Amino acid sequence: FLIGRNALVTGGTSGIGLAIATALGRAGARVAINGLGDGAQILAALTDILAEGATDARHFPADLRDAAAIEAMVTDCTAWGAPDIVVNCAGIQHTAALADMPAATWDAMIAVNLSAAFHTLRLTLPGMAARGFGRVVNIASVHGLVASLNKAPYVASKFGLIGLSKVAALEYAAAGTRSSGGVTINCLCPGWVETPLIEPQIAARAAAVGGGRDEGVRELLREKQPSQRTSLPEEIAQAVLWLCRAESHNLTGAAIPIDGGWTAQ
Ligand code: NAD
Repeated sequence: FLIGRNALVTGGTSGIGLAIATALGRAGARVAINGLGDGAQILAALTDILAEGATDARHFPADLRDAAAIEAMVTDCTAWGAPDIVVNCAGIQHTAALADMPAATWDAMIAVNLSAAFHTLRLTLPGMAARGFGRVVNIASVHGLVASLNKAPYVASKFGLIGLSKVAALEYAAAGTRSSGGVTINCLCPGWVETPLIEPQIAARAAAVGGGRDEGVRELLREKQPSQRTSLPEEIAQAVLWLCRAESHNLTGAAIPIDGGWTAQ
Protein backbone atom coordinates (compact mmCIF):
# COMPACT_ATOMS: atom_id res chain seq x y z
CA PHE A 1 0.00 0.00 0.00
CA LEU A 2 3.01 2.33 -0.03
CA ILE A 3 3.94 1.91 -3.69
CA GLY A 4 4.77 5.34 -5.08
CA ARG A 5 5.56 6.77 -1.62
CA ASN A 6 8.97 7.98 -0.43
CA ALA A 7 10.03 7.46 3.17
CA LEU A 8 12.89 8.96 5.20
CA VAL A 9 13.88 7.06 8.35
CA THR A 10 16.49 8.50 10.71
CA GLY A 11 18.23 5.91 12.85
CA GLY A 12 17.64 3.55 9.92
CA THR A 13 21.01 1.82 10.26
CA SER A 14 20.20 -0.04 13.50
CA GLY A 15 17.57 -1.43 15.84
CA ILE A 16 14.03 -0.07 15.63
CA GLY A 17 14.80 2.30 12.73
CA LEU A 18 16.21 -0.50 10.58
CA ALA A 19 13.12 -2.63 11.27
CA ILE A 20 10.86 0.31 10.34
CA ALA A 21 12.80 1.03 7.13
CA THR A 22 12.56 -2.66 6.19
CA ALA A 23 8.81 -2.79 6.88
CA LEU A 24 8.14 0.39 4.87
CA GLY A 25 10.14 -1.09 1.99
CA ARG A 26 8.20 -4.35 2.24
CA ALA A 27 4.99 -2.29 1.89
CA GLY A 28 6.37 -0.84 -1.37
CA ALA A 29 7.96 2.48 -0.40
CA ARG A 30 11.26 3.88 -1.66
CA VAL A 31 13.30 4.17 1.50
CA ALA A 32 15.92 6.77 2.44
CA ILE A 33 17.81 6.04 5.64
CA ASN A 34 19.98 8.28 7.75
CA GLY A 35 22.12 6.89 10.53
CA LEU A 36 25.66 6.41 11.72
CA GLY A 37 27.69 3.30 10.98
CA ASP A 38 30.65 2.12 8.94
CA GLY A 39 30.34 1.27 5.27
CA ALA A 40 29.68 -2.40 5.98
CA GLN A 41 26.84 -1.67 8.44
CA ILE A 42 25.20 0.79 6.03
CA LEU A 43 25.54 -1.61 3.09
CA ALA A 44 24.06 -4.43 5.19
CA ALA A 45 21.09 -2.24 6.14
CA LEU A 46 20.42 -1.23 2.52
CA THR A 47 20.77 -4.85 1.38
CA ASP A 48 18.21 -5.96 4.01
CA ILE A 49 15.75 -3.24 3.02
CA LEU A 50 16.02 -4.04 -0.71
CA ALA A 51 15.84 -7.80 -0.11
CA GLU A 52 12.52 -7.29 1.70
CA GLY A 53 11.06 -5.59 -1.37
CA ALA A 54 11.73 -1.83 -1.23
CA THR A 55 11.48 -0.28 -4.70
CA ASP A 56 14.72 1.59 -3.98
CA ALA A 57 16.83 2.35 -0.91
CA ARG A 58 19.62 4.82 -0.26
CA HIS A 59 21.63 6.14 2.69
CA PHE A 60 21.83 9.90 3.22
CA PRO A 61 24.57 10.74 5.73
CA ALA A 62 24.40 13.50 8.37
CA ASP A 63 25.41 13.79 11.98
CA LEU A 64 22.10 14.79 13.53
CA ARG A 65 23.86 16.96 16.11
CA ASP A 66 24.56 19.39 13.27
CA ALA A 67 21.58 21.46 12.01
CA ALA A 68 23.35 22.47 8.77
CA ALA A 69 24.16 18.82 8.03
CA ILE A 70 20.49 17.87 8.59
CA GLU A 71 19.38 20.58 6.17
CA ALA A 72 21.82 19.36 3.50
CA MET A 73 20.72 15.75 4.09
CA VAL A 74 17.01 16.59 3.70
CA THR A 75 17.74 18.66 0.56
CA ASP A 76 19.61 15.71 -1.02
CA CYS A 77 16.93 13.27 0.06
CA THR A 78 14.15 15.49 -1.33
CA ALA A 79 15.93 15.70 -4.70
CA TRP A 80 15.97 11.86 -4.73
CA GLY A 81 12.30 11.68 -3.70
CA ALA A 82 10.30 14.17 -1.65
CA PRO A 83 9.47 12.41 1.64
CA ASP A 84 5.81 11.43 2.08
CA ILE A 85 6.68 9.58 5.29
CA VAL A 86 9.23 10.76 7.85
CA VAL A 87 10.18 8.58 10.79
CA ASN A 88 12.37 10.28 13.37
CA CYS A 89 13.88 7.28 15.11
CA ALA A 90 17.50 8.26 15.77
CA GLY A 91 18.19 8.41 19.48
CA ILE A 92 20.91 8.14 22.07
CA GLN A 93 20.88 7.28 25.76
CA HIS A 94 23.19 7.76 28.72
CA THR A 95 22.20 7.11 32.31
CA ALA A 96 23.64 9.09 35.23
CA ALA A 97 22.33 11.11 38.15
CA LEU A 98 21.40 14.64 37.13
CA ALA A 99 24.28 16.20 39.06
CA ASP A 100 26.76 13.81 37.40
CA MET A 101 25.38 14.15 33.86
CA PRO A 102 28.06 15.71 31.63
CA ALA A 103 26.78 18.95 30.06
CA ALA A 104 28.03 17.77 26.66
CA THR A 105 25.86 14.64 27.01
CA TRP A 106 22.81 16.82 27.71
CA ASP A 107 23.53 18.90 24.57
CA ALA A 108 24.06 15.85 22.34
CA MET A 109 20.93 14.06 23.57
CA ILE A 110 18.70 17.10 23.12
CA ALA A 111 20.20 17.61 19.64
CA VAL A 112 19.75 14.02 18.38
CA ASN A 113 16.54 13.03 20.21
CA LEU A 114 14.66 16.33 19.89
CA SER A 115 16.17 19.13 17.76
CA ALA A 116 16.84 16.82 14.79
CA ALA A 117 13.09 16.08 14.60
CA PHE A 118 12.32 19.82 14.67
CA HIS A 119 14.61 20.24 11.66
CA THR A 120 13.27 17.31 9.62
CA LEU A 121 9.70 18.47 10.35
CA ARG A 122 10.26 22.09 9.40
CA LEU A 123 11.97 20.97 6.18
CA THR A 124 9.42 18.35 5.07
CA LEU A 125 5.95 19.29 6.39
CA PRO A 126 5.31 22.12 3.87
CA GLY A 127 5.91 19.70 0.97
CA MET A 128 3.60 17.11 2.51
CA ALA A 129 0.87 19.75 2.95
CA ALA A 130 1.27 20.89 -0.67
CA ARG A 131 0.80 17.29 -1.86
CA GLY A 132 -2.08 16.63 0.56
CA PHE A 133 -0.49 13.54 2.10
CA GLY A 134 2.08 13.09 4.81
CA ARG A 135 2.84 10.82 7.73
CA VAL A 136 5.32 11.67 10.48
CA VAL A 137 6.02 9.06 13.11
CA ASN A 138 8.34 10.15 15.89
CA ILE A 139 9.76 7.37 18.02
CA ALA A 140 9.46 8.84 21.50
CA SER A 141 9.35 6.47 24.50
CA VAL A 142 7.45 5.72 27.69
CA HIS A 143 9.97 8.26 28.92
CA GLY A 144 8.03 10.89 26.98
CA LEU A 145 5.06 10.12 29.26
CA VAL A 146 6.62 9.34 32.64
CA ALA A 147 10.06 9.80 34.20
CA SER A 148 12.66 7.41 35.58
CA LEU A 149 15.71 8.07 37.70
CA ASN A 150 19.05 8.94 36.08
CA LYS A 151 17.61 9.88 32.68
CA ALA A 152 17.26 13.68 32.83
CA PRO A 153 18.26 14.51 29.23
CA TYR A 154 16.51 11.45 27.77
CA VAL A 155 13.21 12.14 29.56
CA ALA A 156 13.43 15.87 28.76
CA SER A 157 14.10 15.15 25.08
CA LYS A 158 11.23 12.66 24.79
CA PHE A 159 8.68 14.88 26.60
CA GLY A 160 9.84 17.62 24.21
CA LEU A 161 9.40 15.37 21.17
CA ILE A 162 5.80 14.65 22.15
CA GLY A 163 5.12 18.37 22.65
CA LEU A 164 6.70 19.21 19.29
CA SER A 165 4.57 16.54 17.60
CA LYS A 166 1.34 17.88 19.11
CA VAL A 167 2.05 21.41 17.85
CA ALA A 168 2.85 20.06 14.37
CA ALA A 169 -0.35 17.96 14.42
CA LEU A 170 -2.41 21.08 15.14
CA GLU A 171 -0.68 23.20 12.53
CA TYR A 172 -1.19 20.57 9.80
CA ALA A 173 -4.53 19.09 10.92
CA ALA A 174 -6.48 20.64 8.04
CA ALA A 175 -3.92 19.86 5.32
CA GLY A 176 -5.16 17.60 2.54
CA THR A 177 -8.50 15.78 2.30
CA ARG A 178 -9.91 12.36 3.15
CA SER A 179 -9.12 11.16 -0.36
CA SER A 180 -5.57 12.58 -0.42
CA GLY A 181 -4.98 11.12 3.07
CA GLY A 182 -4.15 14.25 5.05
CA VAL A 183 -1.02 14.99 7.05
CA THR A 184 -0.62 13.37 10.47
CA ILE A 185 2.07 13.62 13.10
CA ASN A 186 2.21 11.08 15.94
CA CYS A 187 4.55 9.58 18.49
CA LEU A 188 5.03 5.94 19.41
CA CYS A 189 6.08 5.41 23.02
CA PRO A 190 7.74 2.02 23.46
CA GLY A 191 8.77 0.46 26.74
CA TRP A 192 11.73 -1.95 26.56
CA VAL A 193 12.64 -2.97 23.00
CA GLU A 194 15.53 -5.36 22.34
CA THR A 195 18.13 -3.27 20.51
CA PRO A 196 21.77 -2.25 21.06
CA LEU A 197 20.54 0.94 22.83
CA ILE A 198 19.50 -0.90 26.01
CA GLU A 199 22.39 -3.38 26.24
CA PRO A 200 24.39 -1.21 28.72
CA GLN A 201 21.32 -1.07 31.00
CA ILE A 202 20.81 -4.84 30.70
CA ALA A 203 24.49 -5.39 31.54
CA ALA A 204 24.25 -3.08 34.59
CA ARG A 205 21.22 -4.97 35.94
CA ALA A 206 22.85 -8.33 35.24
CA ALA A 207 25.95 -7.23 37.16
CA ALA A 208 23.83 -5.93 40.07
CA VAL A 209 22.19 -9.37 40.55
CA GLY A 210 25.31 -11.33 39.63
CA GLY A 211 23.56 -13.01 36.69
CA GLY A 212 23.70 -13.18 32.91
CA ARG A 213 21.90 -11.23 30.19
CA ASP A 214 18.58 -13.08 30.72
CA GLU A 215 18.56 -12.07 34.40
CA GLY A 216 19.38 -8.50 33.39
CA VAL A 217 16.39 -8.37 31.02
CA ARG A 218 14.15 -9.94 33.69
CA GLU A 219 15.21 -7.32 36.24
CA LEU A 220 14.51 -4.44 33.86
CA LEU A 221 11.04 -5.80 33.05
CA ARG A 222 10.20 -6.66 36.67
CA GLU A 223 10.67 -3.07 37.76
CA LYS A 224 8.26 -1.32 35.36
CA GLN A 225 6.82 -3.35 32.45
CA PRO A 226 3.84 -5.44 33.71
CA SER A 227 3.66 -7.72 30.64
CA GLN A 228 7.17 -8.96 31.60
CA ARG A 229 7.86 -9.17 27.85
CA THR A 230 10.15 -6.96 25.78
CA SER A 231 9.02 -5.70 22.37
CA LEU A 232 10.85 -6.62 19.19
CA PRO A 233 11.80 -3.90 16.67
CA GLU A 234 9.56 -5.53 14.04
CA GLU A 235 6.56 -5.11 16.34
CA ILE A 236 7.16 -1.36 16.61
CA ALA A 237 7.48 -1.25 12.81
CA GLN A 238 3.98 -2.74 12.44
CA ALA A 239 2.54 0.19 14.42
CA VAL A 240 4.33 2.61 12.06
CA LEU A 241 2.73 0.90 9.06
CA TRP A 242 -0.71 1.23 10.65
CA LEU A 243 -0.18 4.98 11.16
CA CYS A 244 0.80 5.28 7.48
CA ARG A 245 -2.45 3.78 6.22
CA ALA A 246 -5.09 5.97 4.51
CA GLU A 247 -7.61 4.94 7.20
CA SER A 248 -5.44 6.59 9.87
CA HIS A 249 -6.03 10.10 8.44
CA ASN A 250 -7.76 11.28 11.64
CA LEU A 251 -5.21 9.77 14.01
CA THR A 252 -2.95 12.75 14.72
CA GLY A 253 -1.29 14.41 17.69
CA ALA A 254 -1.29 11.14 19.64
CA ALA A 255 1.41 9.60 21.82
CA ILE A 256 0.70 5.87 21.67
CA PRO A 257 2.23 3.63 24.34
CA ILE A 258 3.57 0.19 23.33
CA ASP A 259 4.77 -0.57 26.82
CA GLY A 260 3.15 -3.73 28.23
CA GLY A 261 1.14 -1.61 30.68
CA TRP A 262 4.04 0.48 32.04
CA THR A 263 2.16 3.82 31.81
CA ALA A 264 -1.20 2.31 32.81
CA GLN A 265 0.03 2.01 36.39
P1 NAD B 1 19.93 1.90 18.30
O1 NAD B 1 21.10 2.34 19.11
O2 NAD B 1 19.87 0.52 17.77
O3 NAD B 1 19.72 2.92 17.06
C1 NAD B 1 19.93 4.30 17.19
C2 NAD B 1 20.06 4.92 15.81
O4 NAD B 1 20.29 6.34 15.94
C3 NAD B 1 21.25 4.36 15.01
O5 NAD B 1 20.88 4.17 13.66
C4 NAD B 1 22.29 5.46 15.11
O6 NAD B 1 23.21 5.50 14.03
C5 NAD B 1 21.40 6.70 15.12
N1 NAD B 1 22.12 7.86 15.66
C6 NAD B 1 22.59 8.01 16.94
N2 NAD B 1 23.27 9.17 17.02
C7 NAD B 1 23.21 9.77 15.80
C8 NAD B 1 23.72 10.97 15.26
N3 NAD B 1 24.45 11.84 15.98
N4 NAD B 1 23.48 11.24 13.95
C9 NAD B 1 22.79 10.39 13.18
N5 NAD B 1 22.25 9.23 13.65
C10 NAD B 1 22.47 8.93 14.94
O7 NAD B 1 18.68 2.21 19.24
P2 NAD B 1 17.12 1.86 19.15
O8 NAD B 1 16.75 1.20 20.41
O9 NAD B 1 16.75 1.25 17.86
O10 NAD B 1 16.53 3.34 19.26
C11 NAD B 1 15.72 3.94 18.27
C12 NAD B 1 14.79 4.95 18.93
O11 NAD B 1 13.87 4.28 19.77
C13 NAD B 1 15.51 5.97 19.83
O12 NAD B 1 14.95 7.26 19.62
C14 NAD B 1 15.19 5.48 21.23
O13 NAD B 1 15.19 6.54 22.16
C15 NAD B 1 13.81 4.92 21.01
N6 NAD B 1 13.38 3.96 22.05
C16 NAD B 1 14.10 2.80 22.26
C17 NAD B 1 13.67 1.91 23.24
C18 NAD B 1 14.39 0.62 23.52
O14 NAD B 1 14.07 -0.01 24.54
N7 NAD B 1 15.32 0.20 22.70
C19 NAD B 1 12.53 2.21 23.99
C20 NAD B 1 11.83 3.39 23.75
C21 NAD B 1 12.27 4.25 22.76
